[in-house]
Amino acid sequence: MRIVLVGPPGAGKGTQAQFIASHLSIPKISTGDIFRANVSGGTELGILAKQYMDKGDLVPDEVTVAMVRDRIAQPDAVSGFLLDGFPRNVPQAETLRDMLADNGQAVDKVLELVVDEEEVVRRLSGRRTCGQCGRIWHVDFDEGRDDVCDDCGGRLFQRDDDKEEVVRHRLEVYKEQTEPLVEFYEKEGVLAGIDATGSVEDVTARALAALRPA
Ligand SMILES: [Zn+2]
Repeated sequence: MRIVLVGPPGAGKGTQAQFIASHLSIPKISTGDIFRANVSGGTELGILAKQYMDKGDLVPDEVTVAMVRDRIAQPDAVSGFLLDGFPRNVPQAETLRDMLADNGQAVDKVLELVVDEEEVVRRLSGRRTCGQCGRIWHVDFDEGRDDVCDDCGGRLFQRDDDKEEVVRHRLEVYKEQTEPLVEFYEKEGVLAGIDATGSVEDVTARALAALRPA
């Protein structure tokens, strides 16, 4: 089964990708993982990609497409895969469709995680990271922990990625790029909206239910 998972920042997409793929015994192919491997490896592609990611912007299509094309051609992806973070836009979706069609394949289902935008802003902008042990606390859910880590006494700080204006920018970028993509897959008849509120297990169960034949 060939699945595409889409969802805004803060929807728990990475976690769901992991769970759904492992339930179906297919590889999870995340552009985030591919980017990180390139960035930490200091490759030319990685350095380029990092400049975009640092600003909360998207990596150019040709860079991403080249990486995905190689990845889905690998033996473990022959009988199926779950794509997380690709395609991001309609041109990428068309490229993916053509790539798969060359092998008589197609995307079977697109799962769209649906969340409330203000909820995402509240959840992400309330995060505080311990500079010493890396544990993440939340100003709403961990009362009083907005300054010092209870585990190790380290100073808490707000990661740039979690700052409200950055979160809102990422949501804007996501909306502009992804809404046409969702419409594209709706027209193709493969889109399934998944309510992404509630526990991780509940969301996984909803996603798996949407993948079962009617
Ligand atoms: Zn700590």
